[in-house]
Amino acid sequence: MEKHMPQISDTIKKNNLKVTANRIRILEFLRESKTPLSAENIYLKLRDNGIAINLSTIYRTLEIFTLNNLVISLNVEGDKKVLYECVGEHHHHYLICLSCSKIISLDYCPLESYEKELEKQLDYTLISHRLVLYGHCPKCKSKQHNLTK
Ligand SMILES: [Zn+2]
Ligand SMILES: [Zn+2]
Repeated sequence: MEKHMPQISDTIKKNNLKVTANRIRILEFLRESKTPLSAENIYLKLRDNGIAINLSTIYRTLEIFTLNNLVISLNVEGDKKVLYECVGEHHHHYLICLSCSKIISLDYCPLESYEKELEKQLDYTLISHRLVLYGHCPKCKSKQHNLTK
């Protein structure tokens, strides 16, 4: 954990945000996570690691991070649940099952060439984009199939 401390605090500082121990912990935790996490996930997992941060602090921190583009939020379960992921070096997209909320991360980005084209066409400098795919996973699909039989 220690080795990422300076980098993470630099990232926070760069966005003109106050660097606090909790902010570093939350951002670091998100960055090391392979899947997007909800505020409750973060709260429970940090608590398991002996780090006690109020759930309300986690929510507030995630909101600040989202507003400053350090973190992006994904809506799942018909927008009832929000998951957060760190905006990082590893750009990827997600496939979310609407029935069981299983998330698959996709390493391939189909928008890279489209972005370049748009930049040329519209004279924009594009910073980021979001693409989330929703559907039904094979497991849920077969369950539904059995129900309708
Ligand atoms: Zn599913
Ligand atoms: Zn992409």
